Amino acid sequence: MAEHPSPCRLSVIVPVYNEEDCLDRLSDEISAALEGVEGTHEVILIDDGSTDRSFDIVAELANSRPGFVGLRLGRNAGQTAALSAGIAEARGEFIVCLDADLQNDPRDIKTLLDKMSEGYDVVSGWRKDRQDPWLTRRLPSQTANWLISRITGVRLHDYGCTLKAYRSSYLKPLRLYGEMHRFIPALAGFLGARIAEVPVRHHARTLGRSKYGLSRTFKVLLDLLTVKFMSAYMAKPIYLFGGWGLAAGLLGLALASYTLYKKLFLGVFVKDQPLFQVSIFLGLVGVQMILMGLLAEILIRVYFDIKDKKAYFVKDLVGRPPLT
Ligand code: UDP
Ligand code: MG
Repeated sequence: MAEHPSPCRLSVIVPVYNEEDCLDRLSDEISAALEGVEGTHEVILIDDGSTDRSFDIVAELANSRPGFVGLRLGRNAGQTAALSAGIAEARGEFIVCLDADLQNDPRDIKTLLDKMSEGYDVVSGWRKDRQDPWLTRRLPSQTANWLISRITGVRLHDYGCTLKAYRSSYLKPLRLYGEMHRFIPALAGFLGARIAEVPVRHHARTLGRSKYGLSRTFKVLLDLLTVKFMSAYMAKPIYLFGGWGLAAGLLGLALASYTLYKKLFLGVFVKDQPLFQVSIFLGLVGVQMILMGLLAEILIRVYFDIKDKKAYFVKDLVGRPPLT
């Protein structure tokens, strides 16, 4: 951020929810991988309200290893919230996110950064040889990637892969809610980021359990709607609602005039003309839509005025004093 010129080159961000079995091996692998990466780095582990020993291990790592920082959220707020907490805490010029479950391989951090140095702002990891079940994981994911690529216009093979690198100036301004972290490349793309994709390794989960089921697919679809709406109409929602509202209202007016004409000049009673009811319906819809557009306009103004509204609460910070 502007007021704190990046004191280190790279921040690695890892959301952790009930991953006690993975953390020791993960931190060893990250430390080993970072030896080959130039510049200074920090590793931020965010405990997302785990109910196992995860935070004890995170705190121990943050206290014993230089560069390791531990955060604990007040409750389980979800992977997106955990990542946002980590992003807010990050001080690196570049940020790499990865999963705690050893499915992502920390050796790929260097692969991503090398690509980044070609002048990109986002380098997205692509689990080309993904080690997850086909029906419950890869198929829904492929469909989602196709849809997100089509709708956002930012074409990537693997939105769902957490392992990605970002220039932090594109990541810090984003406000992330719901399951929104998978849309980060698209959101950064809307800001004008240059985006590349590189294949990364992927391992089957051998320790701990996955935290998600199929219901995630539906949440992702709804988030996609929000993302599309925000990108296309965030600045002027009345253009969307007002446009359709006007169209419905005008059509209603035309139909009403036609039925009235038939009544006055051809003597057909309005009760014999179903079109009259349709015109009333369209008129009401039109007025409602325009009012909705106006409400949305007000909401947007309120939204832009609210600063730092967060979807998480940080309970503990271990390993360094807070910035402010
Ligand atoms: N995670 C989290 N909060 C949650 C769920 C998951 O921080 O509420 C973390 C989890 O510990 C892991 C990453 O997010 O590091 C991805 O979760 P998981 O491996 O269960 O997802 P999958 O790989 O099965 O899609
Ligand atoms: Mg996983």
